[in-house]
Amino acid sequence: MVVVRLPAEVLARASSSADLAALDAGIVDCFACPRLVAWREEVAATKRAAFRDQVYWGRPVPGFGPADARIAILGLAPAAHGGNRTGRIFTGDRSGDVLFAALHRAGLANQPTSVAADDGLALHDLRIFASVRCAPPDNKPTPIERDTCAPWLWRELELIKPTVRVVVALGAFAWAAWWPAMSRVYGGTPPSPRPAFGHGAHWTSPDGGYPHLLGCYHVSQQNTFTGRLTPTMLDEVFARAKELARGA
Ligand code: SF4
Repeated sequence: MVVVRLPAEVLARASSSADLAALDAGIVDCFACPRLVAWREEVAATKRAAFRDQVYWGRPVPGFGPADARIAILGLAPAAHGGNRTGRIFTGDRSGDVLFAALHRAGLANQPTSVAADDGLALHDLRIFASVRCAPPDNKPTPIERDTCAPWLWRELELIKPTVRVVVALGAFAWAAWWPAMSRVYGGTPPSPRPAFGHGAHWTSPDGGYPHLLGCYHVSQQNTFTGRLTPTMLDEVFARAKELARGA
C-alpha cells in the first residue's frame, strides 16, 4: 500500500492511474486532508447507535459503475454514516434510498436499493462519483479540501471521457465543481458568466465538444423530506439524461 499524504502526491498518483481500478485503489489510500481524515476516522470509531455493531469503512469512497458509461452523476461527498460506513457512494443512507429507487425506475440500476457494498447492485451505462471523496463535517468541505481532492475527479473524468455524454450535477456544489474540472479535462475555458444552477438546468456547448451538463437538486433529506425534490422530478432528469446520452 502506497499511502498518499500530500496534495502533490494526489496529483501524481491520480495522473499516473492507468485505469479506474488503479484510480480507485489510489483514492482509498488517500490521507491528504488532515481535517477530513480525522473526521472520517472519528465517525468510524464513534458510530451511530443504529450501526454500533458494524465496522465502518472510514476511508475515502471511490466512484461506482462501469468504465464505459455514457452518463455520470457528480455528487458532493460521501455521507458520514452512508458511504463512509459502507464504502460505496450513496450506499446505506436515505439519500441513496431515493436516488437508487429513481435510477432503478430509469433502468440505470438493476435494483432499487443500495444498502451494502456486497448487495448485488449494478449500474447500467452510469458511473457515480463525488467532487470530494471523504465525508466532511456538516457536508461542507473547505475550498482547500475541494481543490486537494480535485485531481481524483479530473482523472476519473479523463478515464470515462471516451464514452461519457452527460453529467448530472447533484446540487450546487457539484455544479460549481464541474466547470474547473471540465476545463482541465476537456480544455478551453468555462462559459462566463457561469450558467446558474437549478433543477433541470441544462448546459451544452455550441460546438458539442463537452458533455451535456444537467442540474438536479441534491437527494438530501432536506430536499426530499420537504418535497423540494420529488420522485417525479428525479424521473424527469434521468429521462432527459438518457435522451441526451442517445443523442436525442
Ligand atoms: S478528500 Fe480527497 S484528497 Fe482529501 S483525503 Fe479524502 S480522498 Fe484524499
